Amino acid sequence: LRELPGDPESGPRVRQVAQAWSRVEPTPVARPRLLAHSREMAARLRIDEHDIAARSFADVFGGNALLPGMDPFAVNYGGHQFGHWAGQLGDGRAITLGEAINAAGERWELQLKGAGPTPYSRTADGRAVLRSSIREFLCSEAMHHLGVPTTRALSLVGTGDDVVRDMFYDGHPKAEPGAIVCRVAPSFIRFGNFELPSSRGDVALLRQWAEFCIGRDFPHLSGEGETLYGQWFGEVCERTAVMVAHWMRVGFVHGVMNTDNMSILGLTIDYGPYGWIDDYDPDWTPNTTDAQGRRYRFGWQPKIAFWNLTRLATALAPLFDGVDRLNEGLQRYADAYTRADRGHIAGKLGLRECRDEDVELIQALHTLMQDGQADMTLFFRALSRVDPAAPSAAPFADAFYDPDRQAAVAPALESWLDRYGARVRQDPEADLPARSSRMDAVNPKYVMRNYLAQQAIDRAEQGDPAGVSELLEVMRRPYDEQPGREAFAGKRPEWARQKAGCSM
Ligand code: AMP
Ligand code: MG
Ligand code: MG
Repeated sequence: LRELPGDPESGPRVRQVAQAWSRVEPTPVARPRLLAHSREMAARLRIDEHDIAARSFADVFGGNALLPGMDPFAVNYGGHQFGHWAGQLGDGRAITLGEAINAAGERWELQLKGAGPTPYSRTADGRAVLRSSIREFLCSEAMHHLGVPTTRALSLVGTGDDVVRDMFYDGHPKAEPGAIVCRVAPSFIRFGNFELPSSRGDVALLRQWAEFCIGRDFPHLSGEGETLYGQWFGEVCERTAVMVAHWMRVGFVHGVMNTDNMSILGLTIDYGPYGWIDDYDPDWTPNTTDAQGRRYRFGWQPKIAFWNLTRLATALAPLFDGVDRLNEGLQRYADAYTRADRGHIAGKLGLRECRDEDVELIQALHTLMQDGQADMTLFFRALSRVDPAAPSAAPFADAFYDPDRQAAVAPALESWLDRYGARVRQDPEADLPARSSRMDAVNPKYVMRNYLAQQAIDRAEQGDPAGVSELLEVMRRPYDEQPGREAFAGKRPEWARQKAGCSM
């Protein structure tokens, strides 16, 4: 263990500044304290619970010490933000400690978010507030347990230092407790890592990034030159499609799908102002700064992901002679999205396969849920209680937010259920108990609703971090009935309406 010198005024300890990355050490904090950790992630990294409880764990993952072999660095990238090229912008607050290779041969990059300034911080402080750190810690692990491709989180460490932020709710700066999440993923490379050198006409660096990324993160691909690059881009497109289809399945809204927040491995990354669909509304976005354009609304996610891939294709174009292979890759996005989406439609409706008519069936249901203000999670979970032989709306009694809206759609729901019952009866696997359990394995009971995270945050800000671990405990088994934990599966309470999350 090597202790870092503790002078937060001295700025980032930079040993090298380059176009792509820089060595930089975390800036020590006042009183690192472990607030929560992920058992599963610790187990994957072969870190035992005894070591996690030790003081030295909080020191390392709070940025006050390094373990032997750690050689920290920050990576630089650019991105398209809200549809416009924004130039160089990241990473001003993520420092990679190193890679851990476990006994199974898995390679995991360990990255601290909020461990102090880097050469790319510009005027910002490189820190993160407790509230957004809790949101990222909890949601990234919850997404993993939901079966959604995502970066992971090992730990949440309180720094003991305050961070000053402009709150856009009231416009006044406010001191808040700081925290650091240790994020974990095989790779944190983003579309923006390729866009930045490409925007500068630095084809040599662009090629170096591509070769490095393929060699490290896509070792199964073979060939060379354009053939290899074409396969690689196509796989990025496919992985992105699979990820977004899962978001649509579980009702997750990323909220800031800028190209700098798009992982090359198709992992959900950078949990900022994300949110979950409560009452079904494809036009909802949790991003209050996107309130006008609502570019990052729920229902647009599949097409925004595609647009982002066209930005990546443009950035990679200098590596190709023509555009054919890039267009083929983009086509793979469309195909993979349709395939994944249809698989989810079948799963959510409890059908063995998704036919064309089933796409219409679920679209009709979405319209009905939107008109009736039905809670997406509760509604789909209740669908498995419908008896196809005698379909009734009884299982949905508590899935609505407004009795008037519920009453208004009641006739439409009855006729939809008749259609649905008839369709299920044609299905070779219509048998109720088996069908219910298959449906319950794709329609979660527990999701990281904004108000649940907010309750854990409020407690943590009062000095009691236990709510974070309690919530994580529930989110570890999102598809299981968990007796005694019904409170975590409830509708959004009225006080939490419109309460968008915020990122910084
Ligand atoms: P985001 O909108 O959270 O994805 O942030 C975009 C970029 O802004 C990140 O890649 C960071 O480099 C940078 N950034 C955000 N917050 C901070 C901060 N507090 N200090 C330094 N850089 C930051
Ligand atoms: Mg980001
Ligand atoms: Mg952010």
